Amino acid sequence: MQIVLIEGDGIGPEVTQAACRVVAAANVKVDWVKAAAGIPAAEQFGEPLPEETLEMIRRYRVALKGPCTTPVGKGYRSINVRLRQGLELFASVRPVNTLPGIKTPYEKVDLIVVRENTEGLYAGLEHEVVPGVVESVRLITRPAAERIVRFAFELARHRGRRMVTFCHKADVMRLSDGLFLECARQVADDYPFIRFEEKPIDNVCLEMALDPSEFDVLVMENLFGDVISDLAAGLVGPAGPGGGLGLVPGANYGTRFAVFEAVHGSAPDIAGKGVANPIAVIRSAAMMLEYVGRGDAGARIEAAVMKALKVGIGLTRDLGGDGNTNTLTEQIIKHLAV
Ligand code: ATP
Repeated sequence: MQIVLIEGDGIGPEVTQAACRVVAAANVKVDWVKAAAGIPAAEQFGEPLPEETLEMIRRYRVALKGPCTTPVGKGYRSINVRLRQGLELFASVRPVNTLPGIKTPYEKVDLIVVRENTEGLYAGLEHEVVPGVVESVRLITRPAAERIVRFAFELARHRGRRMVTFCHKADVMRLSDGLFLECARQVADDYPFIRFEEKPIDNVCLEMALDPSEFDVLVMENLFGDVISDLAAGLVGPAGPGGGLGLVPGANYGTRFAVFEAVHGSAPDIAGKGVANPIAVIRSAAMMLEYVGRGDAGARIEAAVMKALKVGIGLTRDLGGDGNTNTLTEQIIKHLAV
């Protein structure tokens, strides 16, 4: 099978290569079709997200992506925002769960953040009214609101989850989140067998800090989802730089295409040293395999990652180990074999 590979920049090439090795070790034959994005693409094509890259994903439908930096100061729009809008990847999914061997103040975290990816405050609709005054439009439309909430309920149904929490700020943003909330309630009516909860986003933050095990599937607009995704990653990661960023996978789904990527950025501080934690991208690749009908291999990879974390040999520095990208990848491959 052919899948697009965007290595990205910074630690991107190191961690995506680790993921390709693990996929091969799980006996899935993938012909990776490389496409450029990020700093290498900006240098080569003068454009950090060339149209050719979008075309390749449209052709092959699925991509595994490393972190990509959008160069600042040249008026480029965010690569991730353009990718999501250009491919209509309307749903971002971040499963966050407690991991073996990682000490955190929380136990039994097992939640999934579903974020609307195309609208909200990240719709990119900003303008200067007069010098010193700018406006950003927070776009909410009924079709997109209904689509993301239905996606969250379908995900909950397929994965046997018990509850969907809709996060909002409808008491302040009465029109925009008022509409979103109305859509959420309507869609929830179609799923009487799954508990539906609606909560102001500030309450969600407080409760997540106190007891994240309360949450199951959460669904929300773009900006809230961006913030909550990183907050949730921090609940399951070790203390120190990066926290859970090197551990949490992510996926962006549309109706026709899907792009799988880690939560973390390109980590320029450790790039090129071979010490980055590859687990987030490896787990994203496992989600990708599930999407392309190889859920068996995806589940084996996920289990091998859990075993490697539990055994704790060859772990990278962010996990408190003295290993590197290669030693951790080899441990995961070893656990795949047994
Ligand atoms: P961006 O703007 O691209 O999100 P950032 O600097 O805000 O970049 P990251 O690049 O994710 O965020 O880095 C934040 C911190 O986490 C850095 O100290 C980095 O070294 C660490 N970090 C991120 N990803 C990893 C990883 N996979 N392995 C180890 N450390 C990581």
